[in-house]
Amino acid sequence: MDIQRNNFNFIPNVLFEILTKHRTKSINRIKKIYHEEQAIDDFFDFLIKKEYGIFVNSLGNFPKMDIGYQSPSLITNAIIETDRYSQHNYDNIFAQLSNVNCVAVEMRFYDFIVLQDLIKIVNQTYDSTFRTINIFLPYSVEYEQDTMKEFLLQNARVQHLIIYDAPQFIFTTEEQNSSCLEYVPYTMDGRCGNVSPHYFRANREMLCESIKWNNCLNRKVCICKDGNIRNCTSMVQQFGNIETCDLKHVITQKTFTKLWNINKDKISVCHDCEFRYMCHDCRAFIKDSNNIYSKPLNCKYNPYETIWN
Ligand code: SF4
Repeated sequence: MDIQRNNFNFIPNVLFEILTKHRTKSINRIKKIYHEEQAIDDFFDFLIKKEYGIFVNSLGNFPKMDIGYQSPSLITNAIIETDRYSQHNYDNIFAQLSNVNCVAVEMRFYDFIVLQDLIKIVNQTYDSTFRTINIFLPYSVEYEQDTMKEFLLQNARVQHLIIYDAPQFIFTTEEQNSSCLEYVPYTMDGRCGNVSPHYFRANREMLCESIKWNNCLNRKVCICKDGNIRNCTSMVQQFGNIETCDLKHVITQKTFTKLWNINKDKISVCHDCEFRYMCHDCRAFIKDSNNIYSKPLNCKYNPYETIWN
């Protein structure tokens, strides 16, 4: 994983062995171990060309990377669903999420909302712990580009605004605050559980979290349309209602956190896959509904033959 460039490269297993088992040995020593002068030179040329390494005389200043995952947040990310029947008390929801130090929020609107009402909701996050807010809105002619760009400029926390069911695909970014405005011609259905290199995230946070935790459900909470609390919008188990429950109490119960521990190394097939620390997991849609450790339903990759079906 090229975690600084959000990219990845395939390397032979023998290079992996050199970089791990023989990490502290000199190149000359490695050449003697493998009896392969040219191939070892080629490996190191590749590493230099890709800017993955430099030649040094001592490893003293290059300790192994700390891959421990730590977060000051009991909940790092939340999804809030809203439709025309929702009776959300957003002040309560935002206060409860801030109480667990939530930093990223996704607001999914399933029905049209007047822009002024949306602005009011976003303004209610003023005192929250949120650093970023992503918003999904169903397409309406009222959400025309200039208006929505202005909305993004006025609401710096909103980093990504996606208008779905749009007549055509449009993608723009705002240089001023790095926010994105996207019009996409597909619906909100089936957003969960898609597996493809397009969704891979090869960065340090993803790597460290995936090694230890479930990289979708760990420290996630969903507030559904009716206010019920779940691990994920696509899961059926509910843990009370945000209007009547103390969120901090709910999300610290073992019944709520039990799926957080299912990292990729515990999931069948995924535990042998080279993409496992950059690929988002899904526990809502799995191959075998009787086996919570089975592979994500929508994955078409066969790591044993390295082919996408
Ligand atoms: S096998 Fe697992 S880790 Fe590999 S691509 Fe499929 S879902 Fe992701």
